[in-house]
Amino acid sequence: MKDGLFGLYALQRFDLKIYETDEKIKALTAGEEAKKKYAAIKAKHAAIKAHLESVEKELRSNEEDVKALSTKAENAQKRVYDGSITTPKELASAEKEIIYLKDCIEKGENKIVELMEAQSRAETNFKAAEELLVKATKWAKAVIKKENDEREALKAEREKILAERAEYEAKVTDKALLAKYKSVWKRCVGGIAKIEGGRCEGCKTAVASFTAKEALESDHIVLCENCGRILLPVEENK
Ligand SMILES: [Zn+2]
Repeated sequence: MKDGLFGLYALQRFDLKIYETDEKIKALTAGEEAKKKYAAIKAKHAAIKAHLESVEKELRSNEEDVKALSTKAENAQKRVYDGSITTPKELASAEKEIIYLKDCIEKGENKIVELMEAQSRAETNFKAAEELLVKATKWAKAVIKKENDEREALKAEREKILAERAEYEAKVTDKALLAKYKSVWKRCVGGIAKIEGGRCEGCKTAVASFTAKEALESDHIVLCENCGRILLPVEENK
């Protein structure tokens, strides 16, 4: 019985290592965080690019409008001087049109100046966003790769421990004891705990002296009254 308990305690070393490895794998979140940060930078880059394109489009459209208005104004001007206008009414109408067109051209040109300034600002922002995106791409790739390598190494380590554990478990002869140990593991980390300094190694709660005595002297399993772990009695040197 006592030998069985020591055997279990040795088996638990493998289980604790596997548990620790699983916790380390679970704690690997830097890659996911990097992906989120990268996605945010990419979205911002796309928004800045879209803004620049819309300013450029508006600028082109205004330039075309001003060009068309200028052609119209030149044609009206020609009509005034080339003799094609014959009546004072027609002349007045043409002059009115020219004034109106010149006003539109002036407004259009002012708008073009505004848009060129906006374009320049948008280009500066876009350049910065491009540089940031290049840096973020490199950074995120590096973080993800490093974490993947760590994860793969931990998984390989886990497989190795698992294989060693299986070999060890096969040697455990008391299958009932093994089953009990496994059922305790389902509830808490560690199925078996030493009594150390009068306390349960697992939950650190004081073990009643008669319980410790029972664990040491009896031939059946004695559980910690607090956490339910199998108690491994160790004779303490006094
Ligand atoms: Zn306990």
